[in-house]
Amino acid sequence: MSKKSEAVAKLLEKIVPRSPMPEAVDGLPLLEQGMLVVLRRHMTQTQAVSTLKKLRAVYPDWNELRVSQVQEIASLMVAGKLHAPVEDIQKHLPVVRDARDYLQEIYQKTHGFDLEFLKDDSSALKLITQMPFLGTAGASWLLWLATGKQVPVHGAMVRALDRLGIVTRGAGSKKQKELVEPHIPKGEELRFVTAVGELVDRWCTSSKPLCHECPLVDECVFGKKAFQEWKVQQARAEAQRQKDDARRAVLEKKEAAKRAREDARLAKIAEAEAKKKARDKERIEREAKKKREAEQAVQRKLEADKKAKIAAEKARAEAEKKKQKDAERKALADKKAAEKKAEADKKAALAKKEAEKKAALAKKEAERKALLAKKEAEKKAALAKAEAARKEAARKEAEKKAAAAKAAAAKGKAKSSVKPASKPAAAAKKPAAKKAAKPAPKKKR
Ligand code: SF4
Repeated sequence: MSKKSEAVAKLLEKIVPRSPMPEAVDGLPLLEQGMLVVLRRHMTQTQAVSTLKKLRAVYPDWNELRVSQVQEIASLMVAGKLHAPVEDIQKHLPVVRDARDYLQEIYQKTHGFDLEFLKDDSSALKLITQMPFLGTAGASWLLWLATGKQVPVHGAMVRALDRLGIVTRGAGSKKQKELVEPHIPKGEELRFVTAVGELVDRWCTSSKPLCHECPLVDECVFGKKAFQEWKVQQARAEAQRQKDDARRAVLEKKEAAKRAREDARLAKIAEAEAKKKARDKERIEREAKKKREAEQAVQRKLEADKKAKIAAEKARAEAEKKKQKDAERKALADKKAAEKKAEADKKAALAKKEAEKKAALAKKEAERKALLAKKEAEKKAALAKAEAARKEAARKEAEKKAAAAKAAAAKGKAKSSVKPASKPAAAAKKPAAKKAAKPAPKKKR
């Protein structure tokens, strides 16, 4: 086996398409065959064919599907009407979105929905292999189908095979086809076509092939060199990265130091401001306290004044009350005194009256007594007068008798009988003297 055949064998061995290509359905136009390529990325061959039929039934005009909303397409495809269950719509959204994107890409590249020109137009190779959504693998499959299951040797394939050392660029496509085909195992043409398409799509791009990730890097001359260059670039990039990291670390350190200085400066400013704020706060609090105290003092004074006023008012009221009470008491006392006085006066009047009565009685009694006494005296005087008269009479009798006696005595003297006549006179004088010495009777009270 030649080196080129070995390279092709390695390619077929190591490059496996991400999704299988569909089985061509007889009678379908190339556009719908391409749609099957897209649908097979999500489902089996049978499901893909069924979904294609559904889409075609719902949207007979592919352009209508291209410009419709994916939710609407999914709803119509799933339930045949709008507003299908959300879960069903969600499940079919990726499929519908890919179908619509495929139509959009075809429309943008060809300005229509007819790919039948691929069967005749060799210039279509370039066009169809420049459809990123369909992909080189899908486009190659379509070309393979369009050309009657011939290996489509397009530019991207030549580029990749050239890098692998299987063909040489520069020769015409017909020549290149002749150079390639002998190395493809019989019956593996389609797999070869799709494998190369997959290789181009995933790794072997035109400007920047990803040789370091390509499964064929060990078999690829270009790839080995590119991989070495990539490793050198990576080493340089790593060194540069480390350098950048070191520089960044220094810068970060400087920045950190600068930030720290700035933070310290800001902290100092903040501290000064905080102190100022604290001082201001203290001052404000002090002033507020002073004001509060002044207000409290005023308040206290007002309250004291109020209390004093109330107390004065109370005292005045009490004094007034006391005065009133005193007046009432005095009035009462005066009244009582007046009553007492009146009583006393009454009593005095009564007493006076009684006294006067008594005095009158006494006077009357005295007068009565005096009258009695007078009467007694008069009586006594009368008696005395009578006595005296009697005595006078007696005296006169006595005198008469004495005179008689005297006369008799004289006569007797003459005859000697004058002495017996003096004795009766002395005897007459004695009872009168005794009556005169007798005390007057006591007055009754
Ligand atoms: S190694 Fe590189 S050049 Fe070779 S096939 Fe792979 S991607 Fe292409």
